[in-house]
Amino acid sequence: MSDLSNLRIWREHDLKGLMPWYLAVADNRAPAKFRIAGRVPVAVALDAPEEALWVELEARMPQFLDLWNSIRGGRGELPAGLAVPVNLVDLCREIAYRMLAHCNFCRYDCQVDRSEGARLGTCKLAADSRVSTYFHHRGEELVYRGTTGSGTIFFTSCNRRCAFCQNGDISTDKDNGRPVSARTLATMAWLLRMEGCHNINWVGGEVTIHLHTIVDAISQLEDLSPTRDDLAAALPGKADYHFGFPLNPRFAQYRGAFNALMLWNSNFFMSAPAMKLLRILMDVWLPDFKFGPGRCAPLLSKTPFYWETVTENLKLIHDWGEDFTIRHLVMPNHVECCTAPVLKWVAEHMPDAPVNIMDQYHPDNFCDPGHAKFNEKYRDLARRATREEIRQAFRYGKELGIRFESLSYEKNSTGLRL
Ligand code: SF4
Repeated sequence: MSDLSNLRIWREHDLKGLMPWYLAVADNRAPAKFRIAGRVPVAVALDAPEEALWVELEARMPQFLDLWNSIRGGRGELPAGLAVPVNLVDLCREIAYRMLAHCNFCRYDCQVDRSEGARLGTCKLAADSRVSTYFHHRGEELVYRGTTGSGTIFFTSCNRRCAFCQNGDISTDKDNGRPVSARTLATMAWLLRMEGCHNINWVGGEVTIHLHTIVDAISQLEDLSPTRDDLAAALPGKADYHFGFPLNPRFAQYRGAFNALMLWNSNFFMSAPAMKLLRILMDVWLPDFKFGPGRCAPLLSKTPFYWETVTENLKLIHDWGEDFTIRHLVMPNHVECCTAPVLKWVAEHMPDAPVNIMDQYHPDNFCDPGHAKFNEKYRDLARRATREEIRQAFRYGKELGIRFESLSYEKNSTGLRL
């Protein structure tokens, strides 16, 4: 077992036995899903109409799921050799680019042609994806940062407008960072994994709006061998470049080919078609579930359809038997309207789901009274959550039987426990 699997946190009562696929792929005891999907051939020309591509994807899903389930159940093995010539990952890549031309990556369903960029949707992006920075993240939950860090790639821009955004420098400035090609993105992921990161953590801003570039990058990973030019393109954005982490294929191989666990770290506002692609490519999910079903999402993040979209996507990954943990940020003055209904919904629909009830809210972006952008209408959010508010959130978690203690207490900045 690796250092990650040996962490004591996996023996805590609320995490014991959970996330076996995550650990198996992180440890290279199992192939990542993208490698399994690479063994599933498709029988459609990739220049066929988009509708035909979707029909083929639906037709191949049972084969993919059978193979995945047999491997994760210990009954089957990844077929020998490299990916087959035209496979399910190639199909996902092609579909993602078709979607870009009438963008429906997220629930906004803007239907703008981002490949042309003449009209932009809510995220204000054309086809380019920009990476703000990437590095071994030592600040994620212990189950993700482990001993060597979470290989985190931060994309710029977002499809939501949270007034208090805790990553406002990245999410609100769409021109932050540098544009990256899919090949450069693949090289970034390759570097992080070869340096020993437990996972490739796709995050923003918001990642969904970069779906095409991410799927394309993943499609290049299995046999990627970065050239000097690839490295020259990727390295300038690497925040921990000067640490000089050695590259070691032992960290990044399953049966002789590149292997890396894919982590979708997202606001979970994806569209149903995007979820279909991600099901094939993501090994573990890290959804953010912030607002209750009332007016808080439209008022504080200008997001309609919030509750129904996020809960629907959460139900999907739960029904699909995926590994995931949920994040909920406790916001000042929002324990009753947001924290309580969020935790109640989790308890009712997926009581086994681990939840990180986060206490690190700080006033930022339009809610920071010390900043020129501060807007008086967000005065209620212009402070940290009180100790009593955090305690009340934990009390709700406890009363509802939520699995929150291990994830929340080790990350807890206030040091509060119940
Ligand atoms: S990613 Fe979402 S917000 Fe951006 S154009 Fe596509 S559907 Fe609209």
